[in-house]
Amino acid sequence: MDTAKVTPVQPTIEPERYRTPVRAAVLRDTSAPVAVETVRLRDVGPDELRVRIDATGVCHSDLSLARGRLAQPTPAVLGHEACGTVLETGAGVDSVRPGDRVLLLWISPCGNCFFCLQGEPHLCEHGADRSGEPYAIDQHDQPVYPGLGIGSFAEQTVLRSNAVVPVPPDIPAADAALLGCAVTTGVGAVTKVARVRAGSSVLVLGLGGVGLCTVIGARLAGARQILAVDRNPARAALAVRLGADEFLPADDGLRRAVRTLTGHGADYTFDCVGSAATVRTAWSLARRGGTVCVVGIGGKDELVQFSALELFHFARTLVGCVGGSLDAAADLPRYFDWIRDGTLDLAPLATGTAGIADVERCFADLEQGRAVRTLLVPTG
Ligand SMILES: [Zn+2]
Ligand SMILES: [Zn+2]
Repeated sequence: MDTAKVTPVQPTIEPERYRTPVRAAVLRDTSAPVAVETVRLRDVGPDELRVRIDATGVCHSDLSLARGRLAQPTPAVLGHEACGTVLETGAGVDSVRPGDRVLLLWISPCGNCFFCLQGEPHLCEHGADRSGEPYAIDQHDQPVYPGLGIGSFAEQTVLRSNAVVPVPPDIPAADAALLGCAVTTGVGAVTKVARVRAGSSVLVLGLGGVGLCTVIGARLAGARQILAVDRNPARAALAVRLGADEFLPADDGLRRAVRTLTGHGADYTFDCVGSAATVRTAWSLARRGGTVCVVGIGGKDELVQFSALELFHFARTLVGCVGGSLDAAADLPRYFDWIRDGTLDLAPLATGTAGIADVERCFADLEQGRAVRTLLVPTG
């Protein structure tokens, strides 16, 4: 999906079609804090659903949207990493029924475009369309947009049926919410994008939620050596608990430390920050012939330079990662099995719970490295 290209639809609002009032954390504009308001959801149309949000993670992408580093029409209700329960279905929906637990997909594949037909639903041309379509109105009957098409920092949302996947009843809502972004992005970056081979060395730069899930992915892939790097030493214990062999501080000694531990550099490096500087760092820490995977979402003004000679000399593969190349229908059953048998223990990632009135505090915790994932329970 391409968040840089979201063009808001300016519809004629018919207020009588917006009849479900819900409390929601609303972003008015990128210079103002997110605050709780009552908005009214549009009535469910054909092929649509109304979903109660049971748990939703606060992701770095929400923070980037709130501060204007990623494009999002406003006013908007952010939140995209979520699990909920279907309350109402529109005409023609037969994939789920009221009462079903569902995971929400921030890239909702259309199933018919060039990319979907190629088996690349994470690149769907229409995967981000909904973020530019009003789904609610505010107290003044003005349109409100769903962040990344989801809008889960609210008691309920309205989505198309292709934006949800059923979740088995034995999977906890908190775990299912985390599968909606961080886990499938980090694990998918390792297993589907870079395709890490068992026995190799892996370095993960940036230990936020997605970075820590990339560490988990490296462990699942059977990496022999997993190096976890961050500026924040408070992340060391958690990174090791999740499978890292070594934590390395992101300082002037990093390059030498990686050389000492790996010999030639890591077989695979993952930049889970997405800045020009961290892409360069991830590049320089990979061995000749290694793979560098950019997982973090950077800004369009983050320009990375490579000389033509170094591209030749180092013979590395540089690969971008969109949502861990998730194919929800095909991939999620495996994640559910991993959660059931204990292979995937997501409890350490959920560092706290809060309500939708606490979104700004959660953003501050993310910015200052105090939280990995705070799970909001909008109806709690
Ligand atoms: Zn996210
Ligand atoms: Zn498509």
